[in-house]
Amino acid sequence: MYKPGGMVVSRISEEGEQVVVEAVAAASTGICPACGQESARVHSRYARALADLPACGRPVRVCLAVRRFRCANSACERRTFAEQVPGVTRTTGTCCSDWRQRWRPSAWRWAARRGRAWSGASA
Ligand SMILES: [Zn+2]
Repeated sequence: MYKPGGMVVSRISEEGEQVVVEAVAAASTGICPACGQESARVHSRYARALADLPACGRPVRVCLAVRRFRCANSACERRTFAEQVPGVTRTTGTCCSDWRQRWRPSAWRWAARRGRAWSGASA
């Protein structure tokens, strides 16, 4: 599978004209931003829409499945924290320019090709 830094694309699907790329973080653990403790204890998961950009004339939406970890440090006042994928997610905001740059243009072309192939249309 295609791995833009720190992520693994898990699924490509279509919703009408739109290509939906679902990705998960490649790392198995998260680092607590408050105390720096590494944790593998997943508290919960949620989906985060990262980008909504056109690729080869088709709109592409990227959804990253983000895990929330429990901090393993009992002395830490931050009990849970959302994982961060370097260059992709930040503690604030839902999208950043690094992500867009990293995905352009090869990933968008790839996603659009996959979307086309799956819809049965010939290129
Ligand atoms: Zn902590």
